[in-house]
Amino acid sequence: MNVVVLLGAPGAGKGTQAPSLSERLGIPVVATGDLFRAAVRDGTPLGVEAKRYMDAGQLVPDEITVRLFLERLGRPDAAAGVILDGFPRTAVQATALDVALGERGERVAAAVLVDVPQDELIRRMSGRWICRAAGHPYHEVFSPPSTAGVCDLDGSELYQRADDQPDTVRKRMDQQLGALGEVIEHYRSAGTLSTVDGLQSIDEVAVAIDAALAAVGVLPAMSMGQAAG
Ligand SMILES: [Zn+2]
Repeated sequence: MNVVVLLGAPGAGKGTQAPSLSERLGIPVVATGDLFRAAVRDGTPLGVEAKRYMDAGQLVPDEITVRLFLERLGRPDAAAGVILDGFPRTAVQATALDVALGERGERVAAAVLVDVPQDELIRRMSGRWICRAAGHPYHEVFSPPSTAGVCDLDGSELYQRADDQPDTVRKRMDQQLGALGEVIEHYRSAGTLSTVDGLQSIDEVAVAIDAALAAVGVLPAMSMGQAAG
């Protein structure tokens, strides 16, 4: 069973990579948000428990989160493995996952970090501008207006929402990156961490992820097919 942990800061492009990696490896992506939503929707005992915390505006305890993941790992479509996206989120969760997998004679095969420097993340996350007249969206990096600060379509002024301003983005990111750093350290000391340069194109990142996985014996289905052919 190949348990692959995909790590990356918000905006690093992890969410773009997960579905295509899932196709190449032939194993499903298990994302925390989807898992909670499904468990709550299906009204499973763990879902009911998780919902109690969410309704109270509290974090779902690690123990419940880990049990939800283990339950998911027991489904038939996960027999060959899973790609974990958004979990583990803390070192405590990472340790709990190791223990739980160890009890089944399994372990995390690889943790792959899609690494993007924080300044670039902030540039990506804080580049959104919208026009005053109609809310037409622009992005400094990905879809800039032809004249800075002016809407191409109606000539109105462009502004940034508070949520998109660099200071706000930086603060939010510091919080999120604190826990990510712990998780990266956890897998680095376990010797299972591979780091991929997230500044490359989407295709190049995908190739680098495949190479990192192949190096630890987690081979994409396509490569295995080529090797066999
Ligand atoms: Zn406009």
